[in-house]
Amino acid sequence: MSIETIINEFASIAANPKKQLADYKAAGKKVIGCLPYYTPEELVYAAGMVPMGMWGSNKKTISQAKEYCATFYCTIAQLGLEMLLDGTMDQLDGVITPTICDTLRPMSQNIRVAMAKLEKMPTIFLAHPQNRKPSYGLKFCVDQYTNVKKALEEISGNEITDEALQDTIKVYNRSRAARRKFVKLANDHCDVITPTKRSAVLKASWFMLKDAYTEKLEALNAELEKLPVCDWKGTKVVTSGIVCDNPTLLKIFEENNVAIAADDVAHESRAFRVDAPEDCEDPMMALAMQFANQDYCVLLYDEHSAENRRGEFVANLVKENGAQGLILFMQQFCDPEEMEYPSLKKALDEAGVLHVKLGIDQQMRDFGQAATAIQAFADVLKANS
Ligand code: SF4
Repeated sequence: MSIETIINEFASIAANPKKQLADYKAAGKKVIGCLPYYTPEELVYAAGMVPMGMWGSNKKTISQAKEYCATFYCTIAQLGLEMLLDGTMDQLDGVITPTICDTLRPMSQNIRVAMAKLEKMPTIFLAHPQNRKPSYGLKFCVDQYTNVKKALEEISGNEITDEALQDTIKVYNRSRAARRKFVKLANDHCDVITPTKRSAVLKASWFMLKDAYTEKLEALNAELEKLPVCDWKGTKVVTSGIVCDNPTLLKIFEENNVAIAADDVAHESRAFRVDAPEDCEDPMMALAMQFANQDYCVLLYDEHSAENRRGEFVANLVKENGAQGLILFMQQFCDPEEMEYPSLKKALDEAGVLHVKLGIDQQMRDFGQAATAIQAFADVLKANS
């Protein structure tokens, strides 16, 4: 298959997750909605069901969710509920609601109340440990994942055996490795993998069974490896933020010859940086260890926060990937990202990395300001290179 054909397939899945959900249901599969962040999708897959990511929507308008949400909830959380209320996700067999930030915690209860009132679907509550690395944190995480596992077994009617979970961990590790490889190849071949294509390829992973997704992605990676490394004449940036998947916004990058060298985006690389150990006897502990081993994320407690390790990590991402600067997509009303920003800025300034901060949300329809900012930033980077 050609590069173009594979990318088009990913792009059509990324653009229409509702169809993907309908297709899985028509094939007799049960599907579980997975809200962000760090949902252990492996448990859903090992139960023989399809995990489907729910990271809001660039197309919908918040209407019914307003009844349940304070106006200062971010649009990602509000649109997750909107899609559960307005029928978009009615075919789901259940939804997992992690509670990792101050918006998602109350939101998990809004969703629980709304789904029960409307008799739509079971909700599965998930509280990750704040202290995830010590043994008590690992145990707490295993306990929480065990609750999720039991709820999924009830919905699927299948027992999640250790063997099925060990096999699933291998499927997911392989998928994460393929995505890590893809982002490197996308940097080497940024003339072919434009920002919109890069986003579509990574976004499709949230809506496909991981074995099928990985097979397609490995085929794409193999084709990309055959190409000569491109001699890019434009500028390169690292992107950071929660979600940067709006095609209109990413087109502005392309219009200004700005390529994405790497990312520090929760919806993209932060979701596949860390594998679960395959040599752990207890696969539930392996999943807890995978969560414990996550780092450099604004949503996770860092006992060494005074050292500003995350800021340095992001600054290094820019340098190591040959980028000239960083574009930070700041979700409106996102406390974790906003509170982290001064530390990130300090690390970037100290490392001499130029950056620009763009306020975005998923209800954004006018991109004039963003276009001006990206164009001006590209000019600055060009002048400095
Ligand atoms: S965008 Fe920020 S506030 Fe909203 S769910 Fe994500 S982390 Fe929480």
